[in-house]
This record gives sequence, C-alpha cells and structure tokens, in this order.
Amino acid sequence: MKPWQTPLDVDKQKTPHGKIHIIVDRCKGCGFCVEYCPRDVLEMSDEYNQKGYHPAFAAHEEKCINCDLCELICPEFAIFVLKDDDESEDKLKGHVDTVLDDSDEEPSDEKSS
Ligand code: SF4
Ligand code: SF4
Repeated sequence: MKPWQTPLDVDKQKTPHGKIHIIVDRCKGCGFCVEYCPRDVLEMSDEYNQKGYHPAFAAHEEKCINCDLCELICPEFAIFVLKDDDESEDKLKGHVDTVLDDSDEEPSDEKSS
C-alpha cells in the first residue's frame, strides 16, 4: 500500500542499519529467523556447525534495518543485532559474554583492595 501523504521531514529520516552477529554453534537450524525477517536478510548455510546443523547466516546484511525481530524470535539466543553506529568493542564484548556465559560457577565475593 502506498502512503497517502509523504512526511514533511522524509529527507531528514535515516533508515537504521544493523550489524548481525550469529553464534554459529548455538544455532539449531530451525530457520525461524530466515522465515520471519521482514527484509530477507538471512539464509541457511550449506555448512555444518559443531552440532551438525546448517546455521543461519547474513546473506544480505546491507538490507538489515535493525528491527531485532530475529533476536527476539530465536529460541537458542544464537543471533543478535547491534546498531551499526553505536557498536563499540566494549558493548559487543559485554553482549557476547552475557550470551555465552554457560558457566555454573557462583559469582566471586572477593573484593580487590
Ligand atoms: S534485525 Fe530485522 S531486518 Fe535485521 S536480520 Fe534481524 S529480522 Fe532481519
Ligand atoms: S532462529 Fe536461531 S536457532 Fe533458528 S536458524 Fe535462526 S539463529 Fe539458528
């Protein structure tokens, strides 16, 4: 459907872009992210991961609008997307550490003095 009116500030609006991160060995190849991505950014790889599944990969990352749907829908928390413009190493590292923290260790109470 074509919009009936063009927004007055249409020239000032920027389409957001996302940087996709897939934790390949967590993916179980269910294809949810591929099926529901509104921009057809993702596809299933022909390669196998450690679990023996065909993981998703970003075939057309330039089309990603950072809507986060793939991140929300993934049952294995195997995919996340960060804005292209606010991605710092620290933020990425923090995100990956959280997602990959499979450790059963209790947090240490030790305080450095
Ligand atoms: S953030 Fe949105 S547009 Fe980008 S890959 Fe995920 S579902 Fe597709
Ligand atoms: S939704 Fe998650 S587990 Fe399923 S194919 Fe996509 S990344 Fe893999």
